[in-house]
Amino acid sequence: MPAEEMAKLGQSQKPLLAYGDGIYVVDSEGRRLIDGPGGMWCTQIGYNRREIADALAEQALRLSYNSPWYTINSPASELAERVAKETPGDLNRVFFTTGGSTAVDTALRFSEYYNNVLGRPEKKQIIVRREGYHGSTSLTAACSGRAGNWPNFDIASERITFISSPRFRPAKGLSEAEFLDELVQEFEQTIERIGPEKVAVFLAEPLLASGGVIIPPKGYHARMKEVCERHDIIYVSDEVVTGFGRCGEWFASEAVFGVVPDIITFAKGVTSGYVPLGGLAISEQLLARVSGANAKGGFFTNGYTYSGHPVSCAAAIANMDVIEKDGILDHVRELAPYFAERLIELKTLPCVVDVRASGLVGCVECMLDPDADEPTALDKRLGSLIDKHCFELGLIVRPLGNMCVMSPPLVITREEVDTMVDILRQGIVLATEDMRTSG
Ligand code: PMP
Repeated sequence: MPAEEMAKLGQSQKPLLAYGDGIYVVDSEGRRLIDGPGGMWCTQIGYNRREIADALAEQALRLSYNSPWYTINSPASELAERVAKETPGDLNRVFFTTGGSTAVDTALRFSEYYNNVLGRPEKKQIIVRREGYHGSTSLTAACSGRAGNWPNFDIASERITFISSPRFRPAKGLSEAEFLDELVQEFEQTIERIGPEKVAVFLAEPLLASGGVIIPPKGYHARMKEVCERHDIIYVSDEVVTGFGRCGEWFASEAVFGVVPDIITFAKGVTSGYVPLGGLAISEQLLARVSGANAKGGFFTNGYTYSGHPVSCAAAIANMDVIEKDGILDHVRELAPYFAERLIELKTLPCVVDVRASGLVGCVECMLDPDADEPTALDKRLGSLIDKHCFELGLIVRPLGNMCVMSPPLVITREEVDTMVDILRQGIVLATEDMRTSG
């Protein structure tokens, strides 16, 4: 399993799930659980949707697979058009991969190809943020700024530079606008230090999901993009979590965060998790510099056996149909303020130090001593203790150290949000009591 605890290899105590239904999963003992994290931020339309099962079966019978090196298939072509229609600006060229890591990896490999073909092989540096997450290939793991992912891997890379996470902490005495100025200045200074002629890519999630749903100050992405434009740096927006409705839009970059990037990567919600698929949409203008009349580089030899897999693409088309037919984007936009309001109410608990939310993704951060600067080792055990109690009460939580992430299926109703937050509240109370009684 991913992130396996090696001392307990083969003895995994994870719950065995029997089936899913709507926003619920049911375990082998018949326990019905709200899927708080939406699988891993991906079960947008919920479980047990006949439309997706039918699309999968029909496509598996019609054409299960053929090589994307030699042939094209209708679902991949149709999906590329559908995705291009929803992306901002001129991001109209779509490439399919097998998931999020391979989508980001492809974006980074494209930047290598692009700068080599343009005759500037020294332009290879990638700038990323601390607390970001971009995947589990060698290169994308090296771009991930969560220290917990690093131990015992040789992923440090001379090509990668980390800048600050855009996590705003009012306690530090700066206004949000001043903090934003600092972040932009740090970015500019980092580029100057490396040399703009050497910086190829700025890679950023619109909100840092696995870092704990960190929402940057208003205007952050547009300011960072402006710096990128001045230095001919490719801006890659990693929408693996925020894409496909999570923030109430097909893509969040422009509609929610005010930036038209050069490349958008996506995965997860594109199929609501029914089958694996990822991809990226690239700006026509960017691509034009190395293709058509300007092509000097021969083949872009990057791809996967399952690029544009017809069955996955058919599932994604059916998923987009359901999102449209059921008005799920409108539903997310309508429900989001209530979802945030209910989570923010948890701040009345003494150990809840911060709550952040956007669309239907949120994070509740807990610390036993709310006045402490940083979470302690004990705080970092709180999340899994809260998860344990919530599980007994009927809710799966995604614990990230001292943080609980909520990213439920987008079809969740107002009443189900109430149930989810009520259980989370009880779980937090029980976990903090446990901690206090055990000293
Ligand atoms: N980018 C982001 C922002 C992610 O959150 C993730 C996965 N959590 C990835 C990339 C990697 O996606 P995958 O696990 O599908 O390879």
